[in-house]
Amino acid sequence: MKTYTINDFEKIEEIIKSAQTCFIGINNPGSAPYIIPMNFGYENGTFYLHSGPEGKKTELIRNDNRISLSLHGNTKLVFQHPEVACSYSMSAESIICEGKVKFITDYDEKIRCLNIIMRHYTNREFKYNAPAVNNICIWEIKPEQIFCKSFGNSAKR
Ligand SMILES: Cc1cc2nc3c(=O)[nH]c(=O)nc-3n(C[C@H](O)[C@H](O)[C@H](O)COP(=O)(O)OP(=O)(O)OC[C@H]3O[C@@H](n4cnc5c(N)ncnc54)[C@H](O)[C@@H]3O)c2cc1C
Repeated sequence: MKTYTINDFEKIEEIIKSAQTCFIGINNPGSAPYIIPMNFGYENGTFYLHSGPEGKKTELIRNDNRISLSLHGNTKLVFQHPEVACSYSMSAESIICEGKVKFITDYDEKIRCLNIIMRHYTNREFKYNAPAVNNICIWEIKPEQIFCKSFGNSAKR
């Protein structure tokens, strides 16, 4: 299977916008990296995540705000011969972003970010109640590096 590096930013953004979830990887001192799935929103080159105020991930990120995001899409099982295991592979597009988390604390800005996250999944506008907004953590990540690869034919679509 051919692997392509994708440098076209428009194409990269298209892949980001088509991804349903991301995996975040964060530093977990003395242990393996902590990797969990999260929903996200994306606008103007910036990722937005949301979480509760407590828990392992927020504790870890408060100690070390470096983060990796991994997203992928357009997965398809492909093969050259159905009887040959080695001829099977997965065509897909995959992105890794590296950056640092900044917590958004301003109330109106939090609402703006929540709308960006919701727009990733729905076409609807939402109202939010103040206690929920005050409680929620909004993570802003401006990627310092983005790597994008296409595995298989999907680069040609
Ligand atoms: C598709 C998807 C999307 C999600 N989107 C979001 C989101 O947008 N925001 C959000 O806050 N959470 C989201 N979650 C849940 C998220 O993956 C974490 O489980 C959750 O945020 C709790 O993380 P924590 O570090 O606070 O865990 P804690 O509650 O502190 O967990 C303690 C322990 O539970 C285990 N654990 C925690 N999470 C997971 C997990 N996902 N899988 C297996 N074991 C786990 C770990 O061993 C961890 O040490 C999503 C989950 C899925 C499957």
